[in-house]
Amino acid sequence: MLRLGCALLAAVSLPGADLASFQLPAKTAFPASMPRYPNAWFYVEAALAANYADAVKLVRSNLRSAMRLREYYGPFSNPEGCDSDFRLEHLQPWEDNRHRALQHSHAFHMRYYHSSLEAAKLHEVTMEGKRYYRVAASAHYEVEHTNPNHADVEICPICGLTGEYATLQGNLVEIAHDPLGLELLLTGRIRGEVVRFDDWEQREVGSVLSLRRRFTVGTHVFGGMSEGRNTLRIGIVTLER
Ligand SMILES: [Zn+2]
Ligand SMILES: [Zn+2]
Repeated sequence: MLRLGCALLAAVSLPGADLASFQLPAKTAFPASMPRYPNAWFYVEAALAANYADAVKLVRSNLRSAMRLREYYGPFSNPEGCDSDFRLEHLQPWEDNRHRALQHSHAFHMRYYHSSLEAAKLHEVTMEGKRYYRVAASAHYEVEHTNPNHADVEICPICGLTGEYATLQGNLVEIAHDPLGLELLLTGRIRGEVVRFDDWEQREVGSVLSLRRRFTVGTHVFGGMSEGRNTLRIGIVTLER
C-alpha cells in the first residue's frame, strides 16, 4: 500500500471518485518514444472551453502564469514524444560539504501530451453526465539541467532515493522524480516543504491550487505501477466552473 500523504488528498470535487471513473487511456495511445505513463491529468469541464484547443490553452496558460513556468521550444534534445516542454530551474539548492562534487539545484520539468489523445479521439470523456476535455502531462523533479550530474543523484535528500522513497526498488525517475514532480504540481511542496524561488523575494513557486482564483479545482492522487502505468502515482486535476 502506498503512502499518498493527506495533503495530496485534500480538495476533492468528485466525492468517491476512483481511478476507473477517470477512464484513463492505455499507454499505447501515446507515442512509443514516451518513456513513462503521464502522471498528471487535467480534466477541464467542457463548458469552460470552446473546443479542445481552447482547453489545452486554458491549462497551459493558467499553469504557466501560476507557477511562472518557462516554456522551452523545440527542437528538444530529448522530447520524449511530447507536444510542449515547461521548466523551472535553480530550485532548492542542495549544499553539502561532504558531497561537494554532487551538489546541485533542482528543476521542475513537465511535458504535455495532447495531440496524440486528440488523434485517437481520447481527448474527451463523460463522467457522471458531465463532459470534460482532458490533457495529459508528465511532471518530475530532478537535478537541474545545467548541472553535470543531471538528472540523477540518488543520495540527494531532496530528489534522491531518500526518506519515504529510500526503500523503493526500481527506476529512479518512476519511483522518486515523478512523484516529487507531482507533489510540487499539486501542492507547491517537495517532501512536505514549501518550494520557493531562490531570490530575495522567496516567493512560493505555487501549484495547481493557485488556479482556485479562477476555477473550482479538485485534486486526486492514486497509486500507479499497474496496467502499463509505469509511474509511482497518478494525479488528477479537475477544473470546473
Ligand atoms: Zn527532465
Ligand atoms: Zn537533488
